[in-house]
Amino acid sequence: MKNKVILTLAPTGNVPTKEMNPNVPITPAEIAAQIYQCWREGAAVAHIHTRDQAGLPTSDVEVNRQVLAELDKYPDCDIIRQLSTGGRAGKSYTERGQMLCLGPEMASLATGSSNFPAKANLNDPETICYLAGEMKKYGVKPEVEVFDSAMLFNAIQLADKGVIDWPLQINFVLGVPGSLPASFKNLFFLYEQLPDNCTWSITAVGREHVELSTMALALGGNVRVGLEDNVFYSRGVLATNLSLLKRMKAITLAMGKEIASPAEARQILALGK
Ligand code: ZN
Repeated sequence: MKNKVILTLAPTGNVPTKEMNPNVPITPAEIAAQIYQCWREGAAVAHIHTRDQAGLPTSDVEVNRQVLAELDKYPDCDIIRQLSTGGRAGKSYTERGQMLCLGPEMASLATGSSNFPAKANLNDPETICYLAGEMKKYGVKPEVEVFDSAMLFNAIQLADKGVIDWPLQINFVLGVPGSLPASFKNLFFLYEQLPDNCTWSITAVGREHVELSTMALALGGNVRVGLEDNVFYSRGVLATNLSLLKRMKAITLAMGKEIASPAEARQILALGK
């Protein structure tokens, strides 16, 4: 498994709109169709955000249920489902965690606070403990979202205290304006602080996406791609989820690595243990 790379697809996010890029999937059927298309090309994990009928971010349990039901319409698709508990929509923590009762295999868990461009990315200790507790209750593995370095150290402390379980899956989200920039030095610093008992990935937002993702691959990490993080493929060229995935797959293969299937990703991430 050492040479296998997990490609995660983040198709929608909270921010992108059809006005920014008409390829952004918004409805449950659109989200499921693009996840399926990218699973066929090698995506092993789907990091899922949902939108309401107006296209605005929602954590609503019924909308999440609809997305999962749309995915069920592709019975051959065994992609790992990771629901977002992110706070960008500014909801209370009980709202943010309401979909965990659906028992997805994974969910995102930010282990600290930082800033987004226009508002706080608030994850206070009470919020983190609540969401982590709900994940434990429903057998959901957290993916620790690290927007800033303190979140990594807090995650290690939380695991030592038993709030979340070892082994950790850590995703470095770099390049969000207001949080840690996507630079080689920042990634290498974080990489050097990683605990032994973990897996990790990079989400590189913005123009550094390709170079920083390639660096993560070279360091043995996994990569997230998708319109949530990058609506442009290159300067002035709009992306699709598939184009972003295909490019990272090609880089991974060119580096002599292999793409992990969802079954292999489950083993690597120690899911269901
Ligand atoms: Zn997200």
